[in-house]
Amino acid sequence: MKNERWRIRKGSLFVVSAPSGAGKTTLCYEVSKLIPDLKYSISCTTRMPRSGEVNHRDYTFVTTDKFKEMIERGEFAEWAEVHGNFYGTPIKELNELRNQNDVILDIDTQGAMQMKRRYGEGVYIFILPPSLEVLEERIRKRMANSELEIKSRLKKAREEMAGYKEYEYVIINNVFSEARSELESIILSERCRRERIDSGWVERLISSA
Ligand code: 5GP
Repeated sequence: MKNERWRIRKGSLFVVSAPSGAGKTTLCYEVSKLIPDLKYSISCTTRMPRSGEVNHRDYTFVTTDKFKEMIERGEFAEWAEVHGNFYGTPIKELNELRNQNDVILDIDTQGAMQMKRRYGEGVYIFILPPSLEVLEERIRKRMANSELEIKSRLKKAREEMAGYKEYEYVIINNVFSEARSELESIILSERCRRERIDSGWVERLISSA
């Protein structure tokens, strides 16, 4: 986008939701590496880092007090409480990314609806697992020792999936490489929308004979 002078500058928002275990985070992360000028929005969270997670890469990990201060100062574009922890998208970082890039946000359905209300734009994509059994298996692999949290995530997963109708695109993540291609295709197609082409540039092209 940076070098494509025929595109309007303001970046699009790609809002991706899914129940936990549907593979959304890996999908978002991978496409943000594959597609030029697509940046992954790093959320703030109060939950503890999982093993392998890196501060400021996967999340910005903050205390609950700090998160609440940020809410009070209006520093989030959206925020929500999920599984007993807070998660939010910091406005400042989002705006900085949008100046020069498209942005992909991996957020829950409550946050996605707040984004829709606030920005009235964006591309809303929902990721579904191929079955509940597969979802449970994936959740168990990720958090082997907390039965309570597994149950809570499965319950929340069903509630989240019921919200799929609010989204424009649905991807079933059965074979990862196929789901990744689908997400990539959606993003690349959306980039070619007529509204995203600078009409002034086209007029100059036409009249430059
Ligand atoms: P996890 O703890 O598994 O990384 O994420 C739990 C849930 O929080 C996922 O559904 C994820 O999409 C959501 N989430 C992550 N970041 C944000 C955010 O900034 N805002 C909202 N509303 N949800 C988020």
